[in-house]
Amino acid sequence: MTWDFHKQFINGQWVQSTGSGRINVVNPATMQPFEWVSDGTLEDANRAVKAASAAQPAWAAVPLAERVALMKRMLENLRTMADELVSLEVKELGSPEFFARATHCNYQFARIESYIEIAQRLELESEYAESLVIREPVGVVACITPWNYPLGQVVQKVIPAILMGNTVILKPSQHTPLTACLLMEAFRSAGFPAGVVNMTSGRGSFLGEALVSNPKVDMVSFTGSTQVGIKLSQKALEGMKRISLELGGKSPYVWLPGMNDYRPAVEKLFASIFLNSGQTCTALSRLLVPESMEKEALNLIKEALPAYVVGDPMDPATKVGPLASRAQYDKVRSYIELGLTEGAVMQGGEVPPQEPQGGYYVKPVVFSEVKNSMRIAQEEIFGPVLCVITYKSIEEAIEIANDTPYGLNASVYGPKEKAVGVARAIKAGNVYVNDGPRDITAPFGGYKASGIGREGGAAGLLEFTQYKAIFEHGAY
Ligand code: NAD
Repeated sequence: MTWDFHKQFINGQWVQSTGSGRINVVNPATMQPFEWVSDGTLEDANRAVKAASAAQPAWAAVPLAERVALMKRMLENLRTMADELVSLEVKELGSPEFFARATHCNYQFARIESYIEIAQRLELESEYAESLVIREPVGVVACITPWNYPLGQVVQKVIPAILMGNTVILKPSQHTPLTACLLMEAFRSAGFPAGVVNMTSGRGSFLGEALVSNPKVDMVSFTGSTQVGIKLSQKALEGMKRISLELGGKSPYVWLPGMNDYRPAVEKLFASIFLNSGQTCTALSRLLVPESMEKEALNLIKEALPAYVVGDPMDPATKVGPLASRAQYDKVRSYIELGLTEGAVMQGGEVPPQEPQGGYYVKPVVFSEVKNSMRIAQEEIFGPVLCVITYKSIEEAIEIANDTPYGLNASVYGPKEKAVGVARAIKAGNVYVNDGPRDITAPFGGYKASGIGREGGAAGLLEFTQYKAIFEHGAY
């Protein structure tokens, strides 16, 4: 399929931007632009909001069963685009093909399926003692998403918002905007009414702000950095809009003594901090090990590291592709230098050259001798950089785990009862214990500076609703 990525999707149609600005989409494995999208204007944003606002009352009145039927058709359409989705994530993000297929594509289909299935079972009306309490859509929702899981972050917002009767204006990241276009086409060809879903492309600092400031937008659902999240929330609150924020993380992985084999934990650790080149909000970037186990842990890590082959995302042998952009390369490089300045010891990896060679490649780095007070242990690096930190007691492990501004994700590996106890004590929205699987239906989101609100499952659907209580004695 050849696709015109230069248009915006507004009021059920692919339309030209009112401006002539372009934003290049760069392949991080070649450092060359290979596509471009429009640099959306204020007029584009306003047109999209107008369309969403006009469509919302009628969409809210469409019975849930009909909304579900349309969403099922959309998913069928999207499934037929799987190969294109995979190939676009290889190109725009630098994701190795196996990861693009499993995570950026198939897992997103499963998420959509899960929202569809749960939406049909939700109780949206309840009779209280003397009232009828109903959950209504919030209205017009601006969805602003980051570049690291280009389709995934969009799915987490647009699908539940629309299923719950809201209308949407999506602004995907300008760095990885292409798969969102395919999603819009899947909506269009499914026959959704005009204006229910709209997409503008452009820079966050301009177009994102324009959406957040528009008085017809009722809710802002944002995924991105904590810094931008705070700024954008202040603006949204000036207009008393609902906000939902999925932000950064600095997640701990606590290894407890008493397990026979720590190799499964190394596998989980590497998948979390090194796949997607470490550009994952939930990445387990701080490994906490008992002082007495440090040597054993480092040996296991060094043994497993060579399997994490860095290279061309098109090569089937590659596990770790390039970082997504020059800005990300420079940022991660400067944190690796900072780690050495702060006194951490590099156990694997290297300082990448100042000028990237052929693509934005960074070998996985493992730092030992890390103190939790160091900046490399406190700040989100968003690259393949692991900090190994030692602790003396379980109490200290919990203290260290909780001692960052963030609280998105965590994991504990150890004898089950103790591990669950530690999981309960960690201040994070998600905590994995041992080989506990990811549950697509569970609420996902952060404590502290990692966010406000939840995505996923029933909680993710209800995030896009608001309560109304109707008091009319005995009228139900
Ligand atoms: P970012 O904050 O720079 O940008 C996110 C989005 O906001 C982009 O679409 C961008 O164009 C837009 N934007 C930028 N400035 C804006 C402004 N002033 N007003 C409105 N919109 C604006 O984040 P990023 O670099 O794209 O993504 C990486 C960050 O996202 C990391 O911190 C990561 O942890 C976080 N993230 C969190 C989750 C989660 O679920 N908690 C998931 C993925 C990524």
